[in-house]
Amino acid sequence: MQTRDKLYINGQWVTPSGRNTIPVINASTEEVMATIPEGDETDADAAVAAARAAFDGWSATPPSDRAGFLRKIHEGLKARSEELAQTITGEVGMPLKLSAQIQVGSPIANFGYYAKMVTEFEWEEVTGNSRVVREPVGVVACITPWNYPLHQIAAKVAAAMAAGCTVVLKPSEVAPLNAFILAEVIDAAGVPPGVFNLVSGVGPVIGEALVAHRDVDMVSFTGSTRAGKRISEVASATIKRVALELGGKSASVILDDADLPTAVKGTVTACFLNSGQTCSAHTRMLVPESRYEEAAKIAVEVAKNFTIGDPFGGTAKLGPLISDAQRERVRSYIQKGIDEGAELLCGGPDAPADLPKGYYVQPTIFGRVKPDSTIAQEEIFGPVLSIITYRDEDEAVRIANGTLYGLAGGVWAGSDERAQKLAKRLRTGQVDINGGSFNLFAPFGGYKQSGRGREMGPYGMEEFLEYKSLQFKPNAASLTSKAPY
Ligand code: NAD
Repeated sequence: MQTRDKLYINGQWVTPSGRNTIPVINASTEEVMATIPEGDETDADAAVAAARAAFDGWSATPPSDRAGFLRKIHEGLKARSEELAQTITGEVGMPLKLSAQIQVGSPIANFGYYAKMVTEFEWEEVTGNSRVVREPVGVVACITPWNYPLHQIAAKVAAAMAAGCTVVLKPSEVAPLNAFILAEVIDAAGVPPGVFNLVSGVGPVIGEALVAHRDVDMVSFTGSTRAGKRISEVASATIKRVALELGGKSASVILDDADLPTAVKGTVTACFLNSGQTCSAHTRMLVPESRYEEAAKIAVEVAKNFTIGDPFGGTAKLGPLISDAQRERVRSYIQKGIDEGAELLCGGPDAPADLPKGYYVQPTIFGRVKPDSTIAQEEIFGPVLSIITYRDEDEAVRIANGTLYGLAGGVWAGSDERAQKLAKRLRTGQVDINGGSFNLFAPFGGYKQSGRGREMGPYGMEEFLEYKSLQFKPNAASLTSKAPY
C-alpha cells in the first residue's frame, strides 16, 4: 500500500496542515491501495499564495520557453506510462489496455500538443487603432473528477500552463494517485516553483476554499452538474471566471436509412466505454419505431461481447465501476427503470454471479424507454443504455434535445450529408457523424446544463486568456510593429 503524505506546493513536497487522510480504494479488489492527505483551507491558502507569487514570472516567460517545460512533462509522462496505466486501472477499474491507450495516451498527447501549439499561437492582432493582445487570466484552480482523471487534469493544466497561467490542482479524492505522479513529473521537469501546485482533499472543504479564494482568478471545473452549480454560486462572490465541464445524457440518433448493425454496435460501444462512466457516453439510442425489434435484437447481441471481469486480466472489456457508492447508484437506476415500466432486454440490477469482489455491474439495456422517464433523463454513469423509438425526424430531434443536458451525441444516416443536417439541429457541443471518432484537439464542452466553455485544442487554451486592447494614435508606428512580449 502506498502512503502519500505530502502536498506539492511552491516546488516542494510539504507536510499538509490538514492531519486527516483519505483512503484510495482499488475498484476491483475493494482494498485500500493508498492513502492521501485531506488538505484544508490553510493548504489551499499556501498553494494559492505560491501560484500568485509565481504568476508574474511565468506569464512573462516567452511561449517558446513554456513550451520547453511542457515538452519535458510530455516526455516525463511517457517514461512513466506503464506505471500510470497500472495506477489508473487500480483506481478507476478500466481494463489495463484501454487505460494505457486512453487514460494515459491522451494526457501525454495533450502536453505534447500544447508544447507545439503555444509557439504557433497568434498572441496579438491589430484592429483599427488598437492592438489586441492576449494575456493569461492569472491563477487558475483546476478541480477534476475521477472517471478519466489524468486526461481531465491534462486538458486543464497543460492548456493553462501554456497560456501563461499558474495552477493549483485539486484532483478527485476518489482517483488521485495519478495526479501525484504528474506532480513528480512536473517537479523533475524543473518547472519554476509555484507554477504548478497540487493539493488533495474533499470538494466541500479544500475545493470550495479554492473556489472562494480572492487570489484565484479562474476556476476550471470538470465534474457533476450538482457540484458545478455550487461552484458557480461560490465563485460569484468574487466574480472570477468559471469554466464548467459537467454531466451529459447524450443521444445517438439512428435514422431510417442508416446501416443498422453498424449504428447499433457503434452506439452500444459509445455507451459502455469505461463501464458507462463517461460524461459524453451515448446513453440514449433513438431508433425509428419501425426498426425497433431489429435494433433491440442487435443491441443485445452486441452487449454479449462486453464481458465484465478483472481489469488487469487482459480479456475483459468492462471493469468494475469506481466505487461502492457508484455501483449502488447505478443499480438503483436500473431498478427504477424496471419500476417505471421499461423493457429490460439484458443485464439488470443483480451483482454478476461470478465476481464476488469488485464494484461490478452487468451491462444493461432497456427497450421502449419513455423519453421523459427517469432513466432517459438523468445521468446514470454506468453501463446502462436506453432505447427510445421515434416516428419522424422532428420527433427524434425533440427527444434528443429533451433533457437538461447538451454535451455530446451521434447521428447515423445513409449519408454524412443527411447526418450532418440533423446534427446541426442538436443542442449539444459535439456530434459524431456516422461513427466519427473522438478528436483530442477539437473543442469539447457542453450546451445547456452540460457546462460552459470549451477544452482541448487552441479553444481550450483560449479559455485561460484575457483580451487587452491597446489604443494608439492613428498611424502610430508601434501599432504595426510587434509588441514586446
Ligand atoms: P463530482 O462533482 O462529485 O466531483 C468532481 C470534483 O469536484 C472532485 O474533485 C470533487 O472533490 C470536487 N468537488 C465536489 N464538490 C465540490 C464543491 N462544492 N466545491 C469544490 N469542489 C467540489 O464529480 P465526480 O463524481 O468526480 O465525476 C463524475 C461527474 O463528472 C459526472 O457527472 C460526469 O458527467 C462529470 N464529467 C464531466 C465531463 C465533461 O467534460 N463534461 C468529463 C468527465 C466527467
